[in-house]
Amino acid sequence: MTVSFGNYINGEWFSVKDASTNVSPSDLSDTIGEYALGTAADVDAAVAAAKAAFPKWSASVPFERHAILKRISIALFARAREIGEILSREEGKILAEGIGEVTRAAQVFEFFAAETIRLAGETIPSIRPGVGVEITREPLGVIGMITPWNFPIAIPAWKIAPALAYGNCVVIKPAELVPASVRILTEIIVESGIPSGVFNLVMGRGSVVGQRLLDHPDVVAITFTGSVATGRRVAAAAVAGPTMKKLQLEMGGKNPLIVLGDADLDVATEVAVNGAFYSTGQRCTASSRIIVTEDIHDRFVESVKKRLEKIVVGHALDQSSHIGPVVDISQFEQDLRYVEIGKAEGARLVIGGERLTRDKEGFYFAPALFTEARPEMQIAREEIFGPVAAVIRVKDYDEALAVANDTPFGLSSGICTTSLKHATHFKRHSDAGLVQVNLPTAGVDFHVPFGGRKGSSYGPREQGPYAREFFTQVKTAYTLA
Ligand code: ADP
Repeated sequence: MTVSFGNYINGEWFSVKDASTNVSPSDLSDTIGEYALGTAADVDAAVAAAKAAFPKWSASVPFERHAILKRISIALFARAREIGEILSREEGKILAEGIGEVTRAAQVFEFFAAETIRLAGETIPSIRPGVGVEITREPLGVIGMITPWNFPIAIPAWKIAPALAYGNCVVIKPAELVPASVRILTEIIVESGIPSGVFNLVMGRGSVVGQRLLDHPDVVAITFTGSVATGRRVAAAAVAGPTMKKLQLEMGGKNPLIVLGDADLDVATEVAVNGAFYSTGQRCTASSRIIVTEDIHDRFVESVKKRLEKIVVGHALDQSSHIGPVVDISQFEQDLRYVEIGKAEGARLVIGGERLTRDKEGFYFAPALFTEARPEMQIAREEIFGPVAAVIRVKDYDEALAVANDTPFGLSSGICTTSLKHATHFKRHSDAGLVQVNLPTAGVDFHVPFGGRKGSSYGPREQGPYAREFFTQVKTAYTLA
């Protein structure tokens, strides 16, 4: 029997009227459940509840919020395996990554529990005699959150935890494809003893629930992670209404990984395979352009190809799988389409790029590696968001750097080299928000800023103490004593 899961609004779980079916991409006969498709009226009720809860919550002592966030963190650590399994079932990433992601969410809540009691202001002497100046940070109010499918619990966690830590109220809309993980997170948040109305979950479609969050005058800020196209719409809508909302957008990437002739070949191979193909390439920080100098090009391609021959694509819950299935049919078709585009553009498909058959019917895709790609090709410019990477051959470091920066995106970048000179130069001159030396472009810590430049990001950084730039507002108070 399929179980139905409803929204959580104003301290109450609601029964389901309209629902979508959450199906595992590893096994299309495996249904995780029916999840509510919320309405604009549900958003209105959630925002009204959040607005009503805000005065008390924003005035709560930090230690009250600390205790709640800490309880959420402890529950996530304790239930990491169980939730990780559901996450892997609904999203398709392998179980180790699913459990790892839940653990990451637990760490994020733990971190922000501590941040509640660490938020400090400043006192500064005035330019006027006898006057004191205090600079403090205050919460914003009701924050709307719109999240994508590729990190079903980590991305919601790194938006929810700082929002609550600094005294804001929350209405979150997770991606339609992966509502189960956030729904369980909501259960845990409810059990933490959070006051009614402070946190609300409205599942449903972007065009309905997401759109209403953007249009609602009492939502003062929107934090969004998703595609560039949706991000642009979100930005336009968020400033079009009577409330010009504070905005934080994390969008796509077309992240370059440079491999220089002096790189350690084994390190470069691991970094490239992990960065490009793990999590089925479905990470905004994935390396999709691998820029390789000609002195190491052939050896590197051969080494990556050998490594890919050993990669096992299979059911997300199968312990022997290295890579799970693609998330759904439309992403799967997009991946296949880009493989055809790459071939038509004249790039050489070295390995993969086709559908794989497994015991269960699912969206299994063989990781694809292209060589002879040129910077102007579509496969080298557009975000594919799947296990497809293109190798671009260059003469030397200078050309590699120019190609790496020649993109409308600027999220993550990487270089494999043993040269201190080139590593140092790259860290300074890469036009990306995240730079990795001898490490995969994907894979970041939770206590330091995350975000990009150019078309990849808009607004203040996420994660670590830098998150307060978005989740608080500054007040400057003058006193004549
Ligand atoms: P992805 O496919 O990577 O999840 P999308 O940008 O399509 O990226 O979706 C990201 C989030 O934005 C999802 O939660 C989706 O439902 C939501 N969304 C899509 N369209 C809109 C819209 N018009 N207004 C608000 N949110 C939207």
